[in-house]
Amino acid sequence: MPDNLIIDFDSTFISLESLDEFILNNISNSANSSELRAKIEKITNQGMEGIIDFNFSVNERLKYLCANRDSIKSFSKILKKNITNSFLSNKQFIIENSHKILIISGGFIEMIAPVVKDYNIKKDQIYANEFMFNKNGMIKTISKKTLSYKHSTKVHLVKSLNLKGLTHIIGDGMTDCEVWRKGYADEFYAFTENIRREVVVRCSRQAINCLDDYIKIIS
Ligand SMILES: [Mg+2]
Repeated sequence: MPDNLIIDFDSTFISLESLDEFILNNISNSANSSELRAKIEKITNQGMEGIIDFNFSVNERLKYLCANRDSIKSFSKILKKNITNSFLSNKQFIIENSHKILIISGGFIEMIAPVVKDYNIKKDQIYANEFMFNKNGMIKTISKKTLSYKHSTKVHLVKSLNLKGLTHIIGDGMTDCEVWRKGYADEFYAFTENIRREVVVRCSRQAINCLDDYIKIIS
């Protein structure tokens, strides 16, 4: 086990993209949902593959959202039902090593914290975005105060954490892979259980189909 294990959230810890599903569950108007899904997925992928700025991609998607704190609460229940299979089956491994785990995500802490709490991962181990609400309690935009927002990419964020010791990172996206490519993690494992992004697999040295593969490698 490394000293630090960075785990991505969307399409890694859980099987879907939380912000996209959240928006699709709370659409701001009567837009055609399949059309909107395609549009949102395109923006997500462009953000993830580095074609457009990641924070820009988040704000673009938030334009379609109509939600408040209660919407987040009920959505947490959906997320808990969509934890990746091998994370569910290796819950004990995660709990035992939870003190070494950091969740670094382009998603939102309000959605991530209730899910990883059951794995003994605390709020201060999560680096993610935060929502800003308007005076009516509706989600307005992304907070500019978080480390995630300020550093804009996972590379810059991990660099700022100045982690000591051996660091591994597991994720499905290019933003995860970049942390290793730029030298801020000792190993990167492209996680393909939920989605296999060829560009990420090509850039990585090792791909894993599930968390069991990772546990075997480090054992
Ligand atoms: Mg991901």
